[in-house]
Amino acid sequence: MIVLSHKKECCGCTACLSVCPRQCIRMETDEEGFLYPVTDPEHCTDCGLCERVCPCLHPGVPQEPIQCYASIHRKEEIRLESSSGGLFTALAEETIRNGGVVFGARFDREFRVMHDYTETLEGLSAFRGSKYVQSDMRNSFRQAEQFLKEGREVLFSGVSCQIAGLKAFLRRDYQHLITLDILCHGVASPAVWASFLHPYKTAQEPERLTQVTFRDKQNGWNQYDFCLRYSEKEIRFNRKTNPYMAGYFANLYLRPSCHACPRRGFSAGSDLTLGDCWGIEKRPPQSYCADDKGVSLVMAHTPKGVERMRQIHASVCYTPIDYRPMESYNPAIRHSPVPHPEREQFFIRWRQQEAFGQIVASLTRPTLTKRLETMCTPLLKALGIKGFTKYLRK
Ligand SMILES: Cc1cc2nc3c(=O)[nH]c(=O)nc-3n(C[C@H](O)[C@H](O)[C@H](O)COP(=O)(O)OP(=O)(O)OC[C@H]3O[C@@H](n4cnc5c(N)ncnc54)[C@H](O)[C@@H]3O)c2cc1C
Repeated sequence: MIVLSHKKECCGCTACLSVCPRQCIRMETDEEGFLYPVTDPEHCTDCGLCERVCPCLHPGVPQEPIQCYASIHRKEEIRLESSSGGLFTALAEETIRNGGVVFGARFDREFRVMHDYTETLEGLSAFRGSKYVQSDMRNSFRQAEQFLKEGREVLFSGVSCQIAGLKAFLRRDYQHLITLDILCHGVASPAVWASFLHPYKTAQEPERLTQVTFRDKQNGWNQYDFCLRYSEKEIRFNRKTNPYMAGYFANLYLRPSCHACPRRGFSAGSDLTLGDCWGIEKRPPQSYCADDKGVSLVMAHTPKGVERMRQIHASVCYTPIDYRPMESYNPAIRHSPVPHPEREQFFIRWRQQEAFGQIVASLTRPTLTKRLETMCTPLLKALGIKGFTKYLRK
């Protein structure tokens, strides 16, 4: 029986619940808004399966990709709707063309994030774009297994702990399963997300909210512009004015397990990993980022992953690149984020229903040292003075 001694020990992937032969595990929301498994002791026979499939109890071994590429989808409109270079769509289109099924994270009508599947090309648009919130896996592991048993090709996308959970749940290799993990800084609390969004969906906004985009590219790929679209208007935030993303990047409300991620370093066992190809402007093929519409970093870990990249060559431009230099631009590959020192304070004030923007602004305000550093660094650099920052920090 799964007994959690610390919240860090569960990533919420639902492998335990999905594998339970007596179906006596359910997910319950905790006081931070994350889902955790709860076992019904009356029906549990202590068969141990739930523990055997848990990706947190059995962390993976970090490795390096066998092949790495910089890549972009050939269709500009797809890249604009995607967070990086649109490679998810290219890979998913191939599966749909093969008569297969694609799983990924989408918004429901209330803009909650959940895993779902599609069997059509049109259906892929809901999965495009990063949602910086933990997705509710619901019944997706069992649904994927059902499709695999029917002989259908399945492309399953998710963050690394979700892929590790799926693979452990399946307990066997399927030749027609392609697993795709999305590089992940960490996943945020669904309840915090809902509380941030609430005022934009209700009485204050008489129009219906129709679209939420975390990475709008109107002003460029790495701007993290956040956009809420209504029938007649839009509300736009940039990285600095968006309290939700400010709190996300400051690690105020990530899932506790993300701070000790059991599946960093490509240890999920996936065929492919996708991320942002940060640093591409400094090395060939720089032409991919000339239009600032996003470039994907694609890492293949299995011959199946390499083969799938070859199969989609008509829809994408791709160039093999050295993996090592790219790793240094993307801390999420190797390192778990450190929790914000005031994380607990955030949740206390959030539960007291203090205004969202106010809590985040007060907890993420830069210290005097940091502000001095930001103000003086360009001038000191120009004057060739070194060591001032170190002096300040002392
Ligand atoms: C929470 C989160 C953190 C991320 N952190 C980093 C990072 O630190 N560094 C980096 O390089 N890249 C990170 N990414 C990945 C990056 O933002 C792009 O999603 C990725 O490069 C794929 O882009 P794309 O253009 O190929 O396709 P897109 O269309 O942008 O990708 C869509 C894919 O992402 C999946 N997805 C979207 N939201 C979620 C979610 N909440 N949970 C699970 N899967 C989801 C969809 O199912 C689909 O498979 C993160 C993504 C998420 C969701």
